[in-house]
Amino acid sequence: MCGHLKSITFELNLIKRIMATLTDLSSQKLIDYEERYGAHNYHPLPVVLSKGEGVFVWDLEGKKYYDFLSAYSAVNQGHCHPRIVQTTKDQAGELTLTSRAFYNDKLGVYEKYITEYFGFDKVLPMNSGAEAVETAIKICRKWGYEKKGIPNGAAKIIVCGHNFHGRTVTIISFSSDPDARGHFGPYTPGFISIPYNDVSALSEILENDGADIAGFLVEPIQGEAGVFVPDDGFIPACADLCRKHNVLFIADEIQTGLARTGSLLAVCGDCTCDNKCEQQDTYTRPDILILGKALSGGAYPVSAVLANEHIMEVIKPGQHGSTFGGNPMACAIAMTALEILHDERLTQNARKLGKVFRHRMQTLADKHELISLVRGKGLLNAIVINDSPDSSTAWDICVEMSKNGLLAKPTHGNIIRFAPPLVITEEQIHECCDIIEKVIKEF
Ligand SMILES: *Cc1c(COP(=O)(O)O)cnc(C)c1O
Repeated sequence: MCGHLKSITFELNLIKRIMATLTDLSSQKLIDYEERYGAHNYHPLPVVLSKGEGVFVWDLEGKKYYDFLSAYSAVNQGHCHPRIVQTTKDQAGELTLTSRAFYNDKLGVYEKYITEYFGFDKVLPMNSGAEAVETAIKICRKWGYEKKGIPNGAAKIIVCGHNFHGRTVTIISFSSDPDARGHFGPYTPGFISIPYNDVSALSEILENDGADIAGFLVEPIQGEAGVFVPDDGFIPACADLCRKHNVLFIADEIQTGLARTGSLLAVCGDCTCDNKCEQQDTYTRPDILILGKALSGGAYPVSAVLANEHIMEVIKPGQHGSTFGGNPMACAIAMTALEILHDERLTQNARKLGKVFRHRMQTLADKHELISLVRGKGLLNAIVINDSPDSSTAWDICVEMSKNGLLAKPTHGNIIRFAPPLVITEEQIHECCDIIEKVIKEF
């Protein structure tokens, strides 16, 4: 009896302690910590998330949300996909990092897998997206000197206005966003910016300056800029012009790739095959393909640069690398993440549900002046709020949507991007459209 009481008392104390910890680390406290101890390089919505599963995330208080950002399309496979979790656990107990000073038993298998999956000869593995873009730029410049015969130091790469390719000094050197660029100079030279979705601008520059131009770097849909979808013919026309002028066509598919836009890659246009491309001659094949984000399903930073041998061979031992690039964890996780895209037919799901989503949003926009435009492809979509980019309307709408159980983030002031994990079902898409509709109607 006495022992029984003791154990009850013990358990009560334990519960009290847990409760104290819980209340101590309230959401507000954690937000305060970030405010107090973290650099203020982000401006998050005021929710503190502590769990994720599939299309859902939960905050510290246990409130459940649909995630309509998917970590900027890194969690296409859904949060904590059980197969990715299992691979991560298994590999973490075997071997995590050897560096490239030695071979490891996962890298070669992964390289064979990913090159066959996308139909390229070679891959160069990196970690973050920005690193992969830097890698592509380096390969492109070196190819320009050694293969195209551009005089050393003169190589130029064409980029597009309103691009987003990452945050390194070289990458922000060709950004047109004053926040991304301001006071980070001196800037890396060697880039020419043309307007996005403007084939004649590209054509003109290649005609006039083509001899010194090594590459054209482009997002097939501009994600961070607010989901700008170019005209249908834009990407194939650019690829043709590049081929004509012996200029490398470099596609940054870090956000648009891996099923997000309803095809395996956004450059595949309307093709629905979901791996081991069989139409490599008909779709717009980039000379260099850059992948990141969903390549790990959000479990680990994994990025990759793919190219054929005649391009990749310009990089020789000692000329480029990364301590973590190609580590066994990354390789194992990326293979599982790519298998899931195929096994769960996420390309097809994104394509089908994207149409459902845009149709519902367009119907809403037709009835409400607050939405001036709906655009996107697959499950990468955005609505433009009919208010100045300096207004807080889009932010306020996002805060209100979060209270109603849906997380999305405004970009460029008055644009709201909607990009749920691709494992979402049709029923869930409708439920989410109901939430968005309710919030918009109340505004
Ligand atoms: C996110 C993103 C990057 C940068 O990736 P990080 O992993 O954040 O360095 C580059 N290009 C595009 C198109 C992106 O969306």
